[in-house]
Amino acid sequence: MKTIRDSLKDLKPYKPQSEQTTIKLDANESKNYLIDDTLTFNDLSLNLYPDSNANVLRSKLSAYINVAESQILVGNGSSEMIELILKTFIESDNVVLGFDPSFSMYAIYTKIYNGRYIGVPSKTDFKLDIDDMIDYAKTYQPKLIFLCSPNNPTGQIIPQTDIVKLIKSTDALICLDEAYIEFSENADSMMSMVDEFDNLMVIRTFSKAFGLAGIRLGYLVSNQNIVNELYKVKSPYNLNAVTQNLGIYALSQIEKVNNYTKNIIEQRFFVEKALAKLNLKVYSSEANFIFFQSLEPNLYNKLIDKDIRIRAFSDNLKNYYRVTIGSPDENKQFIKAMKEIITWEKQQLKEIH
Ligand SMILES: *Cc1c(COP(=O)(O)O)cnc(C)c1O
Repeated sequence: MKTIRDSLKDLKPYKPQSEQTTIKLDANESKNYLIDDTLTFNDLSLNLYPDSNANVLRSKLSAYINVAESQILVGNGSSEMIELILKTFIESDNVVLGFDPSFSMYAIYTKIYNGRYIGVPSKTDFKLDIDDMIDYAKTYQPKLIFLCSPNNPTGQIIPQTDIVKLIKSTDALICLDEAYIEFSENADSMMSMVDEFDNLMVIRTFSKAFGLAGIRLGYLVSNQNIVNELYKVKSPYNLNAVTQNLGIYALSQIEKVNNYTKNIIEQRFFVEKALAKLNLKVYSSEANFIFFQSLEPNLYNKLIDKDIRIRAFSDNLKNYYRVTIGSPDENKQFIKAMKEIITWEKQQLKEIH
């Protein structure tokens, strides 16, 4: 039998939690509020290859984000953008840095492309300290640094002044992942600043705020030099015709996206307050999820028994959970279930008072 590359022998296939529940609050998805079942396209030539560079979609994106079309690249989710960056820039044993905890795919793709991923530990309460990142960059001379703001899974933002400070302090490429930026009231996008630096890339997705995780659509923005390099490596026809058209259609309804994200922000306050009342350690979030700690034994399974799935973490994040902000009704049901389940923290509350 042919064997997998040595460096990949201990890699495990990506396996989402598999319990099926009516209320699904584990993966930061949204409702599909942009595309209904009756939508039809007249000129979808499914027998032909799609536009290899998705020109129409990129021109609509250009108008939405106010960045030149030539500086935008689209693909199958921001996952493809992350992989493309590694494919293009990383050589064997190059160091890649990111905060720990952050989005797990940075480390996984780095491994696949033979890089060496180093997580910079976050501080007390998962604070992301940019000076720590700068120190690590000086020590390890990384080729690439991933920043995620708002950060998954903790929900905090990295202030723009910190991001600029890091960019200016290093020659490393910086990939800023803005997957949740539409839900943040305080994070400033760096997309309009890609021309000011020679090492900044920004990636975004339609999977979260646009509620279209199923169509697999993400995009990358950078200065012209970096984008030109990435285009050399991108697979031809990487984005299928159906997704290109759905993306164009979604971008004609930005008003709805703004209303949706406003709504989620309101709901986030409600869930945050309700969880805090249960004496849980709750981390204030600027994304469409909330990260919290509970010492309740088997909380994940107790919620599954109530037909609700959230994300549970393991290893050094044991007892930490991430819940997606759902519809008002789903959030109410989640909180009701939590009130019924949580006994450990209630006991602690009693002992204090
Ligand atoms: C969900 C998520 C993505 C999006 O991935 P897609 O491939 O676009 O679905 C990217 N980065 C982070 C941090 C995420 O949480």
